Amino acid sequence: MVLRLSKLFLRTLREDPADAEVASHRLLVRAGYIRRAAPGIYTWLPLGLSVLRKVEQVIREEMTAIGAQEVHFPALLPKEPYEATNRWTEYGEGIFRLKDRKGNDYLLAPTHEEMFTLLVKDLYSSYKDLPLSIYQIQNKYRDEARPRAGLLRGREFIMKDSYSFDVDDAGLDDSYAAHRGAYLKIFERLGLEVIPVAATAGAMGGSKSEEFLHPTEIGEDTFVRSAGGYAANVEAVTTVVPADIDFSNAPAAEVRDTPDTPTIETLVDAANVLVPRAEADGGPWTAADTLKNVVLAVTLPTGERQLVVIGLPGDRGVDLKRVEANIGSFLPIAGEITLEAANDEDLKKQPLIVKGYLGPGMSLNAPLLGTEAAAKMLYLVDPRVVSGSAWVTGANEAGKHVFGLVAGRDFGWDGVIECTDVRAGDEAPDGSGPLETARGIEMGHIFQLGRKYAAALDLKVLDQNGKQVVVTMGSYGVGVTRAVAALAESNHDDKGLVWPRAVAPADVHVVAVGRGEEIFAAAEKLSLELEAAGLDVIYDDRPKVSPGVKFGDAELVGVPTILAVGRGLVDGVVEIKDRRSGNAENVAVDKAVDYVVNAVRNS
Ligand code: ATP
Ligand code: MG
Repeated sequence: MVLRLSKLFLRTLREDPADAEVASHRLLVRAGYIRRAAPGIYTWLPLGLSVLRKVEQVIREEMTAIGAQEVHFPALLPKEPYEATNRWTEYGEGIFRLKDRKGNDYLLAPTHEEMFTLLVKDLYSSYKDLPLSIYQIQNKYRDEARPRAGLLRGREFIMKDSYSFDVDDAGLDDSYAAHRGAYLKIFERLGLEVIPVAATAGAMGGSKSEEFLHPTEIGEDTFVRSAGGYAANVEAVTTVVPADIDFSNAPAAEVRDTPDTPTIETLVDAANVLVPRAEADGGPWTAADTLKNVVLAVTLPTGERQLVVIGLPGDRGVDLKRVEANIGSFLPIAGEITLEAANDEDLKKQPLIVKGYLGPGMSLNAPLLGTEAAAKMLYLVDPRVVSGSAWVTGANEAGKHVFGLVAGRDFGWDGVIECTDVRAGDEAPDGSGPLETARGIEMGHIFQLGRKYAAALDLKVLDQNGKQVVVTMGSYGVGVTRAVAALAESNHDDKGLVWPRAVAPADVHVVAVGRGEEIFAAAEKLSLELEAAGLDVIYDDRPKVSPGVKFGDAELVGVPTILAVGRGLVDGVVEIKDRRSGNAENVAVDKAVDYVVNAVRNS
């Protein structure tokens, strides 16, 4: 194919779009690949579509290779299936909802687990039909709170989503492993570095889950890795838990006056003056000896606000994202929640909370509080608060702290939660060494859903013994439009995009430089010969455009090979330039096609 720039529906821009925060957004708009239609919603122009189709093709081929079959669902869906799984509620404000003329509720699908489950239920009824993997490449809609960075976080975006259906857990393991392998191949073929990291399942439910993160500074996900090969999303990191401590001989807890010590720092300073600790008992108090109790407010999917107290060592901070990822099982209802520090309004409703001096026991036992207004608050602790550990903590009275308060003896808790910040230097849970932190973009996500969706929607098949069994499922997503953006992000320089061959909108960008008719004739001929050799060609045949503008556009558009036909023609040579390395060579006109074909083949 030859795309002639005189005709191509393309306008490159000199200026960066005002709202562009990252290079991929800036360059995809400037180079004429996409245009913004609304916040987080983009129109695809010919060059953009070409890249998008190539990314899709790689994905299709690898899905086919593991036996997955393509289907296509509507994006506009009725509410009922999503109600059956409770996601109509759980998604909260995250989905676009609409009504038809009869007043029935619809949504624009944020993901399609329900529909795939129902389709298989419709058509299949025996274990003999399984395993099955089906997928689609389709628009998804999410009313993201912060659409950002162009295609990286859109409100309309394209996802490849597949779903596997198996009769037993071993089958699910196989389907999951096949997808995992396919994902690694997809990203390898695209030339996009990804690290599979252990993840939490979030709103999807289910058990085993991994994300494929592309490491980059502009990523919104923080992950950790160890030299020994451990990698996990920060939300999924588990703490190395110290052993329980025998407290049979531990001294009784004692309340002490610690005036003006509402912060950990002031408390530690005061403790070392008022209650110095002997070297034999561990030396001076540090923040790690204190138990900090932080009051959080959870807004449930119902809109109801509930307070939760988190107890953690005073040298650590609360990581709200980790709390959010792990608090689900402690809440009365599943779904999207918001989590924040409790505000003064919240605290007013719990009059017995003494700010700065809150200790366990307060939240634990409603009877202790003595008033009905102070309803029981959930008390969750960090895994480091093991049975027998002794703490300096608030005495629930202004200006007082209690020393030697023993976990499991003097106070209990409603649950243990991964809630603290994960730090560089923390031990990896698998013993593979200290952790370092890095940032990344989530490119794909695979889940073992298990039987949650099949059970909710009653997808059963007859097993070998003629018994009805609930099918077990996996769900696997790749952000297709996000992949285009991530590729642009990791393949650009200050002049423009620098596409890897696998996804470039063309193999070669032919530029006719100058005015002479013979130049245009030669460039035209070369373009057709390159096309005949099976290459995709962009040909800049614009008659009255300066060489500077043409070269600028070629560099902005980012095709891997640029072939310039110009002044050298009189000596029988053209210039062939590698966009990535910038290396240019003069090549005899009659060798140019072979040269480019080889360049394409060998990269
Ligand atoms: P994120 O954490 O980035 O919001 P997610 O975990 O909500 O993503 P999934 O439900 O796992 O996303 O969707 C599968 C894939 O779809 C993601 O791995 C990502 O590549 C892509 N994706 C999700 N949300 C968006 C979005 N708003 N814009 C573009 N791609 C997205
Ligand atoms: Mg995800």
